Amino acid sequence: MALATVQVTGQFYASHWLPGHPRCGELHSHIWSYHVTITGEVNPETGMVADFHDIKDRVEEFNGKTLNNFESIGIPTSENICIYLATNLAWSNPTFTEVEVQISEKEGYVSAYTWPNKEE
Ligand SMILES: [Zn+2]
Repeated sequence: MALATVQVTGQFYASHWLPGHPRCGELHSHIWSYHVTITGEVNPETGMVADFHDIKDRVEEFNGKTLNNFESIGIPTSENICIYLATNLAWSNPTFTEVEVQISEKEGYVSAYTWPNKEE
């Protein structure tokens, strides 16, 4: 089995608020940048680890949405969005061995999470 890595970078537009936060407590929007890196087995039938378009579509499901409505994210900070996306992408395909998601709500502010997380 050959392992390879695919990366997808893009943006989506979504709103959120952070309950009780002094600066981010009111509903507001960002153009979020994302960077997804997936390592997994190259499927011998497709020649792919994953289809780039499938990864893009999965992340960009957030486009135009309010992230607080995705209950399993929890508090929709960029950290929790990374964890939600990485975990969901990892669960979507058992041949993935590592999924890293980086999210930025604004230039210079980046969060990242790598599945599997050795602390869990
Ligand atoms: Zn915000």
